[in-house]
Amino acid sequence: MSEVKTEPVTATYFDDWHKQRTAKVAGSISVSPFPDEDGNQYLSYCCPCGCGRLAPLLVGNGFKPAESPSWQWNGSREKPTLTPSINHIGHWHGYLTDGVWRSC
Ligand SMILES: [Zn+2]
Repeated sequence: MSEVKTEPVTATYFDDWHKQRTAKVAGSISVSPFPDEDGNQYLSYCCPCGCGRLAPLLVGNGFKPAESPSWQWNGSREKPTLTPSINHIGHWHGYLTDGVWRSC
């Protein structure tokens, strides 16, 4: 880890996953443009620790998808909230609330 981010880390929204993947901004998010037939979407986040790794989360806009693991998303791209907590194993564990990542 060459770049350790000081908390809190804000969630920068990218409208394009490829741009997000190239930029590697800690805590950035992008969201798949169209929900599937169950209303599920993928939210890609860049690990808030600063390592530059991206991971997808299965999310529902206003609900938690039936499949696990999954997260309820508040539908906001500017001030996203996810529940429950996000555990990027070995890197970071915490919450994304109102567009801010806070470790726990
Ligand atoms: Zn990390």
